[in-house]
Amino acid sequence: MTEHEESILIAGARENNLKDVSLRIPKNRIVVFTGVSGSGKSSIVFDTVAVESQRQLNETFTWFIRNRLPKYERPSADAIENLAPAVVVDQRPIGGNSRSTVGTMTDIYSVMRVLFSRYGTPSAGESSVYSFNDPQGMCTECDGIGRVVRLDLDKLLDTSKSLNEGAIRFPPFGVGTGQWQIYAQSGLFDPDKPLRDFSKDDWDLLLYGKGFRVPRRSQNGSTGTNTYEGIVERFDRLYIKRDMSGLTERNREVARGVTSEAVCPVCGGARLNGAALASRIGGRNIAELCRMEIGDLIGVLEEIDDPVATPIAASAVTRLRRLEAIGLGYLSLDRETRTVSGGEAQRLKVVRHLGSSLTGMTYIFDEPSVGMHPRDVDRLNALLVQLRDKGNTVLVVEHDPDVIAVADHVIDMGRARGRAAARWCSPEPWPGCAPPTPRRAGACAARRGSRRRSASRRGG
Ligand SMILES: [Zn+2]
Repeated sequence: MTEHEESILIAGARENNLKDVSLRIPKNRIVVFTGVSGSGKSSIVFDTVAVESQRQLNETFTWFIRNRLPKYERPSADAIENLAPAVVVDQRPIGGNSRSTVGTMTDIYSVMRVLFSRYGTPSAGESSVYSFNDPQGMCTECDGIGRVVRLDLDKLLDTSKSLNEGAIRFPPFGVGTGQWQIYAQSGLFDPDKPLRDFSKDDWDLLLYGKGFRVPRRSQNGSTGTNTYEGIVERFDRLYIKRDMSGLTERNREVARGVTSEAVCPVCGGARLNGAALASRIGGRNIAELCRMEIGDLIGVLEEIDDPVATPIAASAVTRLRRLEAIGLGYLSLDRETRTVSGGEAQRLKVVRHLGSSLTGMTYIFDEPSVGMHPRDVDRLNALLVQLRDKGNTVLVVEHDPDVIAVADHVIDMGRARGRAAARWCSPEPWPGCAPPTPRRAGACAARRGSRRRSASRRGG
């Protein structure tokens, strides 16, 4: 390979605030981009390298698939060459719904499922029956969510008021609505009697009655009948026993005002059905293991001594140790990913990529040290090194000197303010690059030295 093939080449980049920037970014290295806000480091790394890489990758797919992928405009530049597929590892929340957990996101949960299907007693069957996202494994009461939403009567009803006075504090059932009519004008109740004076039979009828029809009076005087349904029955059917995502955001908000969420009474929050939960290893079921802190779970898995189970447990331990090594040992596999912080999210993403066997990728980090404890910055650096040593290019936009210290190469977009080129520290700058400043040149000589040392360590 020539030197140029070992580098990403950018000529005449003009994206956003860039003013004809030309750069050579060495591949298979950790390259940190520094510079004040507005210097163009994000424009180069995210809006030029990442966007063009994604755009070119998308072009390799068929039209049918391409139409389903996000569209990227070609970044403004004269030339961008030698790109590798890029993965942006940012601090955006992982999001996802409540079915996404640390365990599912890192794929460690699927190893746990295999472990239980082979070694749990009694085995519940193949690994999918231990999945709370599979109908074969999920608790049918909560559909594998572990929580149930219940109508909260204390929030819904003001028992000091009568139906005519607006005892039902839920706008879709408010005074004058069709829903209200079913209760207030059905002839079943005294609409002027405060609910607290209702008899037990009245309450049963009001909340749970069903299976008969009641008279209806329309605005225009015509009459007919409505199917009667107690408030709880009706609310459950309209708002709880349906996919809430089908409701408008406003209706969902209103419904949230009169409901409360509780741990599923059937699975106790374990998300799984009885067969999956009956299966145990060392006295614990899969949900109990996933509730443990990762550090403790490692200890339990390491005690497994069985020709079939030990290799599977060891595979889980390898992945769990990566989480522990980056300071996430306090998390549990059942933690929902939508509840983790931005910094935790970024580190989880790194761990997921470390588990991948792809090499030759470009990983792009956006200020990964933000909000991180100094101890964790060291751990982050170790992960960046691991990604590089697996044969990847690691680009980092960062201010933190502790992260900059791990760089093989620093591109300082600093005082140039997007003009001309980044300060360049390679011995042979790509045409158009500014000559190296003495300070940077010195820093890079030191870095090259340290890289040689670490390379020889890796080789040995
Ligand atoms: Zn349940």
